[in-house]
Amino acid sequence: MSLSKIWVFAEPSESGVSSTSLELVTAAAGFASTVEVFGYGIGPDSGRILGEHGASKVVLATNLGGVLAGTAVASVMAARIASDRPDAIFFGSTPEGRDAAARLSARLDLPVLTNIVNLVLDGDRLVGENAVFGGSEIVSARFVSSGPGIYVIRAKSFAPEPKGGPSATVEEVSVGDIGSAGKAKIVESHVEARTGPKLDEAAVVVSGGRGLGQQDSYQLIEELAKLLNGAPGASRAIVDAGWVPYAYQVGQTGKTVKPTVYIACGISGATQHMVGMKGAKNIIAINKDADAPIFTIADLGIVGDVHKVLPKLIDAIKAKA
Ligand SMILES: Cc1cc2nc3c(=O)[nH]c(=O)nc-3n(C[C@H](O)[C@H](O)[C@H](O)COP(=O)(O)OP(=O)(O)OC[C@H]3O[C@@H](n4cnc5c(N)ncnc54)[C@H](O)[C@@H]3O)c2cc1C
Repeated sequence: MSLSKIWVFAEPSESGVSSTSLELVTAAAGFASTVEVFGYGIGPDSGRILGEHGASKVVLATNLGGVLAGTAVASVMAARIASDRPDAIFFGSTPEGRDAAARLSARLDLPVLTNIVNLVLDGDRLVGENAVFGGSEIVSARFVSSGPGIYVIRAKSFAPEPKGGPSATVEEVSVGDIGSAGKAKIVESHVEARTGPKLDEAAVVVSGGRGLGQQDSYQLIEELAKLLNGAPGASRAIVDAGWVPYAYQVGQTGKTVKPTVYIACGISGATQHMVGMKGAKNIIAINKDADAPIFTIADLGIVGDVHKVLPKLIDAIKAKA
């Protein structure tokens, strides 16, 4: 049995539609016969890629008038829900996704499940699997109430898969005045400087932790990441220490990454870090403590000092280039 309709909140990225949005559309298409997308900033040509992933319709919020995007899209969803009722609504666990989900829930009194890492269909009900206690336990939960439930899903919980469907139709909706919900206005936005691939989309991620000893040593991480055409990442310890910006943080309160190769350098492997990277295909850990927890999930473990191992690795890669 499948559901009849799921709505998905979609967000933009530099390449058009964010990979998290495509993951959610792919998942929704596996559970429901109709998938409709509510998005902003993704452009009218997004109908093709969203259609390929299983959506039949895109409702695109335009003329946001400087209000927070999640707020604007939530108001478009709220205005339609009585006449066009979905069985479920999916949001990515992103700042805008969480904002929109919370506003929609408060406005329409809809129940919410957050931090979902997997979904399964049991009869005609979705069961959400939620990571709790820093990802060390998984709890299965379902809504017992009728009416659409809101599911806030972590990035990389599903793989985005183009299935070759036809382009989705795109309907543009001018948001206009949304009353007091629109009182918060964006006064400035800042794009984080970056030279390589995005941290959560890179095939190779090289992350550094407190074992680097000092901020200057992070340049070893950046150099190795650049040589491997990867992205540099970090544990929270060195983000909190101010060595690198928060955008670099991998883990429970940072980004979830699922690269082909993840290299953890001087990172102990706290559960809150591992929850954000344990889905990597190949994990390489460099740590001077042979008992560091990171080695329990590493495919290749190097017991050694990062200040000795990393320069040698960098030289060896340069010699091959
Ligand atoms: C609610 C909550 C949310 C959190 N969210 C996150 C999160 O999103 N991401 C995250 O990363 N953490 C998070 N944390 C923090 C987490 O619990 C750890 O404190 C943090 O991950 C530790 O970072 P670290 O591994 O760099 O440092 P440490 O735990 O101090 O580990 C440093 C490691 O470096 C090794 N080392 C030392 N010197 C060298 C050397 N010269 N060469 C090689 N190895 C060396 C040591 O053996 C050690 O294993 C969160 C914590 C809480 C409570």
